[in-house]
Amino acid sequence: MHATHHHVLQLDIQGTPQAWISIEQAATHHASGAVAWFDGDGPLRTLRGGWNVASGQQSLVEVHPIIALRGAARVNLFDRSTAVTAAKLFRRDRMTCAYCGLRFAERHLQCEHIVPASRGGAWSWMNLVTACAACNGRKAARTPEQARMPLLYLPYVPSRFEDFLLAGRHIRADVHEWLAARLPRGSRLA
Ligand SMILES: [Zn+2]
Repeated sequence: MHATHHHVLQLDIQGTPQAWISIEQAATHHASGAVAWFDGDGPLRTLRGGWNVASGQQSLVEVHPIIALRGAARVNLFDRSTAVTAAKLFRRDRMTCAYCGLRFAERHLQCEHIVPASRGGAWSWMNLVTACAACNGRKAARTPEQARMPLLYLPYVPSRFEDFLLAGRHIRADVHEWLAARLPRGSRLA
């Protein structure tokens, strides 16, 4: 969630995304030898580490934008459903209202229940779309059929790689490319 200052993509050793982490957290993994391999177009930052008594030199820790950690993964590629947040939903739907098809700034968008919550509609990737305030208000507590407001695009559940693209803010170009290269065929985020 709180990905604002978390620029480093942490993977398990097989390359499955685990988390967005901070440069400081990544430096700790580098320094402790936990990083099995890394990727990206070069270090994000070089941090100064401890002094080596024998050589009298200060060590440097290069922090890379994509790091894979040794050991068992905490998150499996298939056993986790990706949590819905408004910010991710709006990006999944490309900031576009599902009813009028117009694009809006994030502050003008709302999360719209396709089947209204009052009729048992869930807060889920498949029952939520992005809508502008006007369309959301017009549709009210009705289904699209009842309101005669057909959806202009269909909802979908993001894959794990898609979810990491949706969750990241200010993703570096090389990290974006790395994730985008692993999107499922036909992904709307590609
Ligand atoms: Zn609209």
